[in-house]
Amino acid sequence: MELKFLGTSAGVPTKERNVTSLILDLQGTRNALWMFDCGEGTQHQILHSSVKISKLEKIFITHLHGDHIFGLPGLLCSRSMGGSTDPLTLYGPTGIRQFVETSLQLSSSFLTYPLDITEVQAGPLFDDGELKVTAYALNHRVECYGYRIEEHDKAGALDTQKLDQDAIPRGPWMQALKQGGTITLEDGRTICGKDYLGVPIRGKSLAIFGDTEPTPEALKMAANVDVMVHEITLEDAFAEKANERGHSTTKQAAALARDAKAKHFIATHISGRYGVEDCPRLLAECREIFPNTDLAKDFAVFPVRT
Ligand SMILES: [Zn+2]
Ligand SMILES: [Zn+2]
Repeated sequence: MELKFLGTSAGVPTKERNVTSLILDLQGTRNALWMFDCGEGTQHQILHSSVKISKLEKIFITHLHGDHIFGLPGLLCSRSMGGSTDPLTLYGPTGIRQFVETSLQLSSSFLTYPLDITEVQAGPLFDDGELKVTAYALNHRVECYGYRIEEHDKAGALDTQKLDQDAIPRGPWMQALKQGGTITLEDGRTICGKDYLGVPIRGKSLAIFGDTEPTPEALKMAANVDVMVHEITLEDAFAEKANERGHSTTKQAAALARDAKAKHFIATHISGRYGVEDCPRLLAECREIFPNTDLAKDFAVFPVRT
């Protein structure tokens, strides 16, 4: 799994940063991409990245502020013009359906693929057997959600040495053993796959926040995750101003990563007032509280590690 940042600015684009959009490349789990938010110009960012619109399987919108959704109608239409026929699922707060359907209708646009729109409520969103996603209500000026993604644990690899020791011949039954099933060999022996599996591989977990001021829900959402992606709209000195507008600061987000026992914090959604020269200071404020912090910039790629 990999996170690819397409836009990392809050509110307005700057020369260095486009407005918010993030890709989760599920590589290793399956050949698909999930997108989180789609600010204006996201399509253009995609053109400068390795992202393929046709591989988008799901889009999660955190809230309906323009810097998070104004790129959506264009992106949906381009996926169609590219000839995609694979279904796409869109999740977002109340109103996302009206926004998309109205935009498509008024512009006489149509899609070549099925678009399934789900208006989100806090709680479990889905579990497809590989990945589980839960929505958490955040505290912004409009209805806003964060998404916690949990990969199921995978069975460990078959211990071939142990199979050899017990003289278990290879054959089509290997698949059943890999899944922990029980088989009967030609010599009459009953073999249980579970006895030959290595330690299970722990699934990865991520918490991808929308805009929010500090809220108790955040602690549950980010508890023990491998990667937490959270906004840091303003620096520590502007805490009051940030919170008044439903946003968090560097230190508030870093304190959340620490308290939730997240392993890695990636900070994004940085106010347009900050230039490249301000980034070391913003990062230092975060690292003072949570050392394993990175500051996202456009086109940055981070592996998701357990
Ligand atoms: Zn925003
Ligand atoms: Zn917002």
